[in-house]
Amino acid sequence: MRRSQLFVKTQKNAPADEVAKNAQLLIKAGFVYKVMAGVYAYTPLGIRVVENIKQIVREEMNAIAGKELIMTALQRPETWKGTGRWSDDVVDVWFKTSLKDGKEVGLAWSHEEAIIEMMKQHIASYKDLPQYVYQFQTKFRNELRSKSGIMRGREFIMKDMYSCSINSDDHEAFYQSSIEAYKKVFERLGLGDDTFVTFADGGAFTKFSHEFQTICDAGEDVIYVNREKGIAVNEEVLNDTTLEQLGVTRGELEMVKTAEVGNIFNFGTQKSEEMDFSFTDAEGRKQFVHLGSYGIGVTRVMGVIAEKMSDDKGLVWHSNIAPYTVYLATIGDISEQVDKLYSELTGQGIEVLYDDRDARPGDKFADADLMGIPYRIVLSERTMTDNSVEVKSRTEDKTQLVALKDISHYIAEKISESN
Ligand code: ATP
Ligand code: MG
Repeated sequence: MRRSQLFVKTQKNAPADEVAKNAQLLIKAGFVYKVMAGVYAYTPLGIRVVENIKQIVREEMNAIAGKELIMTALQRPETWKGTGRWSDDVVDVWFKTSLKDGKEVGLAWSHEEAIIEMMKQHIASYKDLPQYVYQFQTKFRNELRSKSGIMRGREFIMKDMYSCSINSDDHEAFYQSSIEAYKKVFERLGLGDDTFVTFADGGAFTKFSHEFQTICDAGEDVIYVNREKGIAVNEEVLNDTTLEQLGVTRGELEMVKTAEVGNIFNFGTQKSEEMDFSFTDAEGRKQFVHLGSYGIGVTRVMGVIAEKMSDDKGLVWHSNIAPYTVYLATIGDISEQVDKLYSELTGQGIEVLYDDRDARPGDKFADADLMGIPYRIVLSERTMTDNSVEVKSRTEDKTQLVALKDISHYIAEKISESN
């Protein structure tokens, strides 16, 4: 992409009312646009990061037999009344509005009931099970406070998966495979070392649910971890019984601030009983479906990454999710040669943001850093006399001369090293 064709401009300052570091950085670098507190739009740069995160999640959900679909933002009250969750006293984040004829509708804050209602039409017999479905959808939540930038949106993108299993053993096996899939997701997002599978409140059916909590100063949760034993407990379930069950003492746990990036839940048959979601087993008996729900906060993850992987110059994206791999800049009037290099690099499948603007080199370099593009390549008259380019990684200060003919190979090597 040529900068001259991309309308996005970097900004010196974020809006004065923006207090969250993630949003300040993302706004200044031109990835998001703040509409109001908790409501952010994504520019062509921002959407590339969102899509890269989604793609990693999608691949891992597909690997555990997930089937992608898409539900609707508009919801009927009837869908939610059976479980009592249409009530504002039970769910305090609903956005509700009405149709022209006065009928009430809600904007989906979750799709648990909505998906079950749809799946009821498709599942009748044990032969139809198991099924694992997921989507990426905008969720609307009328959050009381929204001071964490894109980490707590009033509208935000979530990946939500739902499992429909024949019995609790099958459910449990899938639940475990989802934990492994989630670990792979956070590993690939570069958050593996700081993300803990955390025991959290399980709700009505099970003692525990599992949250995926990432260490982050801007996070709103507090958990207790033992890194050696790989145990993490949310403060809400930290008590003697839990500690005994997990085989740790209070003294062995360290308190850390975290952001909940994912949450997986076992509903057992509670929800299917409430919604009469059943199937006929091999003996012709009616059985209730075992349900699980598995969320990942896609845009929250992006915010967490912006918080954690950034420095005083700006964002620092891992090449797995960076909007572009290379920021190509020039010094001097050598546009013909740079155009050629740009086509060569893109022709080799490298994603390049080409700064072809008539701007000072210093401004181009500052933008490359602010946007957090993993590699900066500079072609100048000086480097051209050596038939080379100057390359700098976003995480290093030193630059390196690399022969023009080797540059694609060099970048490809660097990327594979960083994975
Ligand atoms: P929280 O406790 O942070 O309010 P939650 O437990 O209500 O989150 P879930 O219903 O479990 O959230 O949603 C699944 C995932 O969606 C969460 O693990 C989180 O990553 C993400 N998420 C939840 N609320 C928001 C929000 N307001 N903005 C961005 N992401 C969110
Ligand atoms: Mg949760």
